[in-house]
Amino acid sequence: MSSASSSSLVAAPAPVVSGIDHRDLWLKILQKVEPKLQRSQFLTWFKDTAILGREGGKVVVGLPLPMCLHWHMEHYCAITLTAAQELDSTITQIVYTVDVGLKDNRERSVDLIEHFPEQRKRKLPGKPEVKMAEGIVSKILNPRYMLDNFVVGGSNRLAHAACMAVATQPGGKYNPLFLYGGVGLGKTHLLQATGNAILKNMPRATIVYTTTEDFTNQVIEAIRSQKMEQFRRRYRLVDALIIDDVQFLANKERTQEEFFHTFNALYEEHKQVIISADRPPQELQLEDRLISRFERGMIADVSAPDYETRLAILTEKAKEYELLLDMAVLQFIAEHTTRNVRELEGILMQAVALYELEQRMPTVRSIAEIMRKLNKDPHAEEEQGVGFEAAQPKRAPTFQDVLEAVSRYYSVSVQDMTGSSRVREILLPRQIAMFLGKKYLRMSFVRLGEMFSNRDHTTVMNAVEKIEAKMQNDPQLLREVRAIERELGVV
Ligand code: ADP
Ligand code: MG
Repeated sequence: MSSASSSSLVAAPAPVVSGIDHRDLWLKILQKVEPKLQRSQFLTWFKDTAILGREGGKVVVGLPLPMCLHWHMEHYCAITLTAAQELDSTITQIVYTVDVGLKDNRERSVDLIEHFPEQRKRKLPGKPEVKMAEGIVSKILNPRYMLDNFVVGGSNRLAHAACMAVATQPGGKYNPLFLYGGVGLGKTHLLQATGNAILKNMPRATIVYTTTEDFTNQVIEAIRSQKMEQFRRRYRLVDALIIDDVQFLANKERTQEEFFHTFNALYEEHKQVIISADRPPQELQLEDRLISRFERGMIADVSAPDYETRLAILTEKAKEYELLLDMAVLQFIAEHTTRNVRELEGILMQAVALYELEQRMPTVRSIAEIMRKLNKDPHAEEEQGVGFEAAQPKRAPTFQDVLEAVSRYYSVSVQDMTGSSRVREILLPRQIAMFLGKKYLRMSFVRLGEMFSNRDHTTVMNAVEKIEAKMQNDPQLLREVRAIERELGVV
């Protein structure tokens, strides 16, 4: 990246530059040329090439075969010159000469295979899953999630340290590793980063990362196709099992049972198991035997980051997106976005969009405008949202908020709730979500029906009436609904 050494080369007035310096300059030029060409072309035409000399602004490039000469002049002269000039603005011309002695002479030319190794992509773009073996599916680990781009602060120090320890010694002291905390605080990031780190240390390890939802679907599929034995056997070959959001195992007895057996088998073999949930083990609505397994290893929480950590996260993310933001802007976002990191990132992404689409550098003012729009309270149209501290608790919930709050409270997934399943455990949460949608968002029965897999509006109407009636004489239900309403900030 740095062009410092090549500019010192410029300082040399005459062609009294050593072969080493020529090679260094050629390597830097090739590093700029390589990304512009197809790999096969680059390897074919730049193999055994070198800078053979330099006379003022003229750079003499040696080619190993006469047939290369024409091709280079025709196709690569311009990009080579541009690359060279980016490194050294005094270069004005590239001239070619053939030197058959260059062939396979590592002393003089640049070894392309050594300097431009093939980047083996583990991630297959556009494919969210990999089939590890028949019956086992893993989500692809997102290479963006790494332990060293996770910003550590008081809110997540223990969790991060535990992940680091697991990465170096999977199946060791911290087994299972159980991370818990609210939405958007970095659990999935840590889980995947730990998977990535284990793979880096042990490239041949089989790491399976799965969401609870996917695991459940796999169990259901194995049962359906009568391949349960196969499913079990295969899962036991895994070196590390990472399972995200286990609160969604609630009410899924059969999946809990399968997970319990898989867990035991892996644990006995000292294979690492990493789990996340939105709450500590003892608060999970799961079988006791599973909870006691979770409590055996290391338990660490991630909580909401403080101001300094938020600012550090923002700085890190801005760097990742190559966005140079004013410190005042970053501080403003960090000050006013307190709920979770996902929200923090959301605002930053809006800033990126602003920059990319309108070529406008985000300012405190434009960010404030973005935040005002995102926090807009649809029931207070006339109100000018000025202070965000005040706007946040008052923000009217969206329907997604309703679904998520109900989903968290009853430990059923949003997908299940809005889907077509008629499992008893899902019925009540679904009806409550409909009731809340009607009451607080004033959504029409038809619209609500659409949100729940295109159910008929009369179904929604019945559900809402049922909840209203039940709340009159079921104090337990009343308490539950109140708790969700409180969480939504509507009472
Ligand atoms: P959770 O699984 O707890 O809901 P995620 O892991 O999906 O949260 O985190 C949401 C986003 O915030 C992700 O993009 C993640 O990279 C980012 N994030 C959260 N905490 C941190 C942190 N401490 N440092 C860097 N990025 C973070
Ligand atoms: Mg997550």
